[in-house]
Amino acid sequence: MKSPRILICGAGPAGLASAYWLDQAGFNVELIEKRPRDNVEGYLLILHGEGLEMLHQMGIYEAACAQQANIQQIKHVNDRGRIITQINPSTCEFGKLKQLVITRDVLCEILAEQVKHIPCRFNEQVTDLVEDETGVRVAFLSGRTDHFDLVIGADGIHSMTRKLIWNREEDFWYPFDLCFAFFKVPNFMGEHGVEYRYQAFQRALTLYYPSEGDGRAAIFFPGAPDPAILRDDQLRKQFAQAPFANDGWEVKRVLDYFGQYENQYFDCVANIRMPTWSKGRVCLVGDSGYASSPLGAHATSVAFVGGYILANALTQSADYRQAFLAYEEKMRPFVFEVQQRSEKIANRWKSKYLSWFDRRFDPLAPISRGVWKRKEIGVKDLL
Ligand SMILES: Cc1cc2nc3c(=O)[nH]c(=O)nc-3n(C[C@H](O)[C@H](O)[C@H](O)COP(=O)(O)OP(=O)(O)OC[C@H]3O[C@@H](n4cnc5c(N)ncnc54)[C@H](O)[C@@H]3O)c2cc1C
Repeated sequence: MKSPRILICGAGPAGLASAYWLDQAGFNVELIEKRPRDNVEGYLLILHGEGLEMLHQMGIYEAACAQQANIQQIKHVNDRGRIITQINPSTCEFGKLKQLVITRDVLCEILAEQVKHIPCRFNEQVTDLVEDETGVRVAFLSGRTDHFDLVIGADGIHSMTRKLIWNREEDFWYPFDLCFAFFKVPNFMGEHGVEYRYQAFQRALTLYYPSEGDGRAAIFFPGAPDPAILRDDQLRKQFAQAPFANDGWEVKRVLDYFGQYENQYFDCVANIRMPTWSKGRVCLVGDSGYASSPLGAHATSVAFVGGYILANALTQSADYRQAFLAYEEKMRPFVFEVQQRSEKIANRWKSKYLSWFDRRFDPLAPISRGVWKRKEIGVKDLL
């Protein structure tokens, strides 16, 4: 019997992991990806228990550990440029967590290597999805059309698959009135293996300098820009710089690099909360269906587990409808828990009651503490 053809839209962590597991299960998988080949973006991602378990199961744990971020020192710096604390992460609360910190581009490259035999078309997007009796007719931006048994949307928080099938975007957005951005910064400090953390009221900047090459900055600040601002480079830059306008240290210098290089990422901190993740033969995985934001520090782990559970459900049942239902049933409690935590962290982070200690010494403490308290689930228990 011919194995079902499955199209996966998006070659980020969720799409690549889903491709890996579906391919292992014998499905005939194809990937499409909006960005050009060799142009993966991102700052630091954190993987915890379930995500690490998935790395083991995909046979890439060692490769990921070998290329994890090199952060030998975390320096908390104040407005006057004074280092208030300098810690070796392997000895602090954050460092004792069972976790792996890795840049998104490196992680995606490792995953892509595992699925390099699977066809992947870059610079490609879906423009239309029409279900018929035997599958889904797909129209692509390139003008191509094709027919698949199933379509998996792994195209991130602004998922086109979700827009085309559900058509009610605003119903699923759960914004936290916070923005974040990641961007490249040249190594003007001449630092290596260091992460700087700067925190002021309701805004933070972290700056990571790896062993070699350019640094990467991340900023978090309050706001809910309208889409026109998100689309316009100049407006976006002004919007991101404004909250930091009176900050000291090297904050303004770092912010000057915002928008100067390709591969910057700017978005609102939000959850995607949907009553169901599938409609007919189309199903969502990862941020497209259940984004939990970087604040939860679990989005990538959840995406990996989602791909695994979905592939497993499709293997267990010959009926895709049953499989999609089983996938949701198994994933919902995990997603719910992670999304609730991200909301709690967002509220704590925005609160003026964020403890003096947190603000002064560890801007990411609310995240670390939220993760610390969490009881991990065994992925096998979800099956
Ligand atoms: C550019 C980028 C940088 C990021 N950097 C960080 C970071 O530094 N730290 C962090 O915590 N989180 C980051 N994230 C989010 C993080 O990767 C996800 O929350 C998490 O890993 C879940 O992954 P995902 O595959 O579901 O979604 P994503 O990581 O968003 O991946 C979605 C993929 O789909 C592609 N895509 C989008 N639209 C289409 C389309 N219409 N057709 C085909 N492909 C499409 C995107 O290019 C991307 O490769 C980033 C996301 C992106 C897109």
